[in-house]
Amino acid sequence: MQECYADVIVDISSEKLDRVFQYRVPEEQQELLEPGMMVEIPFGRGNRIITGIVTGITGHTDYDPAKIKSILRVKTDGIGSESRLIGLAAWIRDRYGSTMIQALKTVIPVKKTVKSRSQKTLHLKLDQEEGQKRLELFRKKHQTARARLLEALLEEPVLPYGLVTEKLNITGTVIRALEAQEVLYCTEEQVYRNPIGSQSAGAYTITLNEEQQAIADGIIEEWQEQPNGRYLIHGVTGSGKTEVYMELIAHAVSCGQQAIVLIPEIALTYQTVLRFCKRFGDRVSVMNSRLSAGERYDQFERAKQGKLDVMIGPRSALFTPFPNLGIIIIDEEHEPAYQSETMPRYHAREVAAQRGKMEGAKLVLGSATPSLEAYYGAKNGYYRLFTMEKRAKDAVLPEVSIVDLREELREGNRSILSRRLQKLMAERLETGQQTMLFLNRRGYAGFISCRSCGHVMKCPHCDVSLSLHNNGKLVCHYCGYEEDKPKICPGCGSGFIRSFKAGTQQVEESVQKEFPMARILRMDLDTTKGKEGHARILAAFANHDADILIGTQMIVKGHDFPDVTLVGVLAADLSLHIADYRAAERTFQLLTQAAGRAGRGTLRGEVVIQTYDPLHYSIQAAAAQDYTGFYEQEILYRSLAGYPPAGNLVAVHCSCEDEQQLQMACDYLKKFIVQISERYRLSVLGPADEMIAKIQDVHRMVIYLKHENLKVLIAVKNKIEQYTRINRGFQTVTIQFEVN
Ligand code: ADP
Ligand code: ZN
Ligand code: ZN
Repeated sequence: MQECYADVIVDISSEKLDRVFQYRVPEEQQELLEPGMMVEIPFGRGNRIITGIVTGITGHTDYDPAKIKSILRVKTDGIGSESRLIGLAAWIRDRYGSTMIQALKTVIPVKKTVKSRSQKTLHLKLDQEEGQKRLELFRKKHQTARARLLEALLEEPVLPYGLVTEKLNITGTVIRALEAQEVLYCTEEQVYRNPIGSQSAGAYTITLNEEQQAIADGIIEEWQEQPNGRYLIHGVTGSGKTEVYMELIAHAVSCGQQAIVLIPEIALTYQTVLRFCKRFGDRVSVMNSRLSAGERYDQFERAKQGKLDVMIGPRSALFTPFPNLGIIIIDEEHEPAYQSETMPRYHAREVAAQRGKMEGAKLVLGSATPSLEAYYGAKNGYYRLFTMEKRAKDAVLPEVSIVDLREELREGNRSILSRRLQKLMAERLETGQQTMLFLNRRGYAGFISCRSCGHVMKCPHCDVSLSLHNNGKLVCHYCGYEEDKPKICPGCGSGFIRSFKAGTQQVEESVQKEFPMARILRMDLDTTKGKEGHARILAAFANHDADILIGTQMIVKGHDFPDVTLVGVLAADLSLHIADYRAAERTFQLLTQAAGRAGRGTLRGEVVIQTYDPLHYSIQAAAAQDYTGFYEQEILYRSLAGYPPAGNLVAVHCSCEDEQQLQMACDYLKKFIVQISERYRLSVLGPADEMIAKIQDVHRMVIYLKHENLKVLIAVKNKIEQYTRINRGFQTVTIQFEVN
């Protein structure tokens, strides 16, 4: 057999975490050893035997093979949740390109910053008679503090430590003295902070309808045979996906397994959490970004010790160290929030699939508008697909109409509101129903379009919108292509070609002008400052304190307002022309979600989508609530352009304080990539300025690599990592990879 070496780290909580030691793998261990396993190794000069964690296995070594020590033993007894998470970190590091320390910090909360609270209690060790005797003695000797404490314990033989020190004014010295004299003894118990307080499970009343039951049965039937089965539930908003999740969790719990439920933070409302608590009582816990480091650590400890069955939370809850994880659920699977923005830039969906594979846990994705990745995966057999077409409470889907804003302009209406939307809003005000106005402003990046014909300036090479820069140039953020901003529209010759600028505040002003009597609430970053700003506005709207709610994408997530019967989308194009290959997908998702807000009660809802591009397939498909129609069009575009999921794309993000240095480094890097890419045949785009080319004086550029095979891209990524690590020109340049 060939020689084989293992990279081993020796202490996960230390700063030297990233320091890897190489050990020889004895022949008999070669087949069984895998990254993430714990091993016993001789360490240091004295060959102290310690435990290490294998982070990688290779066939070669950079050291003198004669001097490399051997692994003594593979520890099979220590395969706890922690070591499995270490294995996951190793995978994350390899897949997304980060250091092992970054990957481990993502997966395991750092120990040293947290102190868990404990509760100490004092117990009387003597019986009454003996106690009384001892009390006399203390009094005689004028040991008043001891006497006071003993007196209290004779009355109440178990006392909390805090009460004794604070209320009886007794010092630790006195307590220790009485402990030494065997008058009392002391116990200590960990108290974990529980962010949701205690809740008891009540009687659960909802019975699944046929559609829901069929899905739950389909998954439960193959629970044993497919321990790491993967599923996608495509169900319209309100079809009752959450009830299906809970049924599956209940099954997992009955098998002695635990569940993780990921929900985007913005949709993690009190109501949602309460539904889970009602069913699973205080074996549910919630993570969110407002928890302190201590609270987070406590939640993970409770999970590790088997005190929890369900963890609900955003992305980071994925790493809950459950002893016997049975199922991971990702609700609203298409949400961009599942993509990490910091190193390692992992995607929760992919990491969840990997964790499921490693630990034998199922993965269930749910969405009304699945991501292209998930649906493509379902089409190709990677996920088993389930579809839900009806709303659970028999509410009907809303009626959607599209208004052409070019037409409005032609007819002399320059208001933000089309005539149709104005008319419908007036009706709502008369009947006391509510309206939501949605300004789709995600990615307002200064794209240029013609208000007369709808023509949008695009990159001739990449088929994404060009962005207007301060210097008056239009720039492509994928390949760096540039051109001057045109004065007249190349499509129709009109002079109405400009960037679209309208904020929620302007919308509020013009709506108020149009309807002076209407009570308006506005929800955007300005009005939601402070901890509960967001919830306060939603509560006010639910209370009918306002007739109209105006907001950005914040208002379209997950909230039920039964009296909202009209939703207006003011300019659906705004997200269509962001400089991102996912622009159409995001637009479709936002429009579908916005439409889903209308008519959730007994009244039928109406939706008006205003746009300069009424024929665009994402807008047409959203209006018709036709997901598969949208998918077919979009996947065609992706495969023609080589974009994920049909192809694979790796972004190499480079940043540096010095603009020139950055430019030079990127040029070098490009040369290097082109050189090695001949063998791999991948296409290289850029370097180009990032969408936001400078943040806090750090300049940012990006190079894109495209190839149909992800393995090839990962191999190139590893080469780049090597190259930039040893090359001096990259010392001041930060490099981050983003996969797909
Ligand atoms: P989704 O997660 O698909 O958006 P939810 O699970 O939130 O849908 O369900 C929408 C509403 O329908 C909720 O108020 C829920 O309580 C209700 N609901 C779901 N399933 C049922 C059912 N089988 N019987 C009665 N009500 C249901
Ligand atoms: Zn035009
Ligand atoms: Zn381009």
